[in-house]
Amino acid sequence: MIPRLPFVEEFHTFRMNTLTIPLCDDFHVHVRQDDMMKAVVPYLAAGGMSRVLVMPNTTPPITSTAQALAYKEELEAVDPNITYLMTMYLHPDITVEEVHKAADAGIVGIKSYPRGVTTNSDAGIEDYSLYYPLFEAMQERGLVLELHGEIPSDHERDICVLNAEEYFLSHLKQLYTDFPYLRIVLEHITTAAAVAAIREAPETVGATVTAHHLELTVDDWAGQNHNFCKPVAKYPHDRAALREIVAEGHPRVFLGSDSAPHPRNAKEAACGCAGVFTSPLLAAYVADTLESLGCLDRMRSFACEFGADFYGLPRNEGTLTLSKQTCTVPASYGDVVPFRASQKLSWSLCPHS
Ligand SMILES: [Zn+2]
Repeated sequence: MIPRLPFVEEFHTFRMNTLTIPLCDDFHVHVRQDDMMKAVVPYLAAGGMSRVLVMPNTTPPITSTAQALAYKEELEAVDPNITYLMTMYLHPDITVEEVHKAADAGIVGIKSYPRGVTTNSDAGIEDYSLYYPLFEAMQERGLVLELHGEIPSDHERDICVLNAEEYFLSHLKQLYTDFPYLRIVLEHITTAAAVAAIREAPETVGATVTAHHLELTVDDWAGQNHNFCKPVAKYPHDRAALREIVAEGHPRVFLGSDSAPHPRNAKEAACGCAGVFTSPLLAAYVADTLESLGCLDRMRSFACEFGADFYGLPRNEGTLTLSKQTCTVPASYGDVVPFRASQKLSWSLCPHS
């Protein structure tokens, strides 16, 4: 009988059962205001993030450098160890001078919302031509244009939440054709059509993918309020296209969680708010999904490298270790129900080193 070699075996087991990567970037997160902000910001680090791109759809929306910097200060007061990349909300109030001011102050981007399609988007855009002088200045100063890529529903034209993203893609093409040096991110892509558009787009165009859109289809949110988000998850073939572009390690496709907390009563209402909350376990959700897709080896590039490279930022220092240990997602975090509540994930987050 061959004697057992416990040390070697245990060492091997240990190696196979942990995953150590740099601390992650979340290039699209909603951290809200006031009490909700204080409640959710600490979960960014808990979820394995070191740097986050903060969405500007506050009340009122962030439309000036001064507002963005004031918001950043509030966030830093809650957790100073996270790097907050600030954005402004594309709005007629923003002038070319304000774009230069924002660039001087280190604001990294401007987010475009189509009017009325998601939380606090009543001030969103209807026509991009109005903003061409701003895009010119953004292009000159290196600010990134982040696009919520949906057009408003229009039943006369057979446009609804299921094809709103696909109908937006001609606008994306127009923008990158007219501004060949402007970096543009198509946020939270959900369709095979968007995946194809990113593949054919130039190097200046990237896309974020959420943890939840890699898991959900229409069947998962129709009648299940806590999975309801905008853009809505689409068909199985759309999810398959998202999974494929992430699994192949496309260098312009990276993690942006779109984690968007709402109190339980706003989600479970007759007219439930759109948004899925993933911040507290973000890296664990992504690891669980990528492993199930057979591409856990893409975790590092998808969550830690490609986004930083696209934004022209240094990659994060510090490491995050995940362990191959089943964890159960809490039923709630305070008043907020997380994604996959009470379900099991195959990876757990360990304290940062
Ligand atoms: Zn969002």
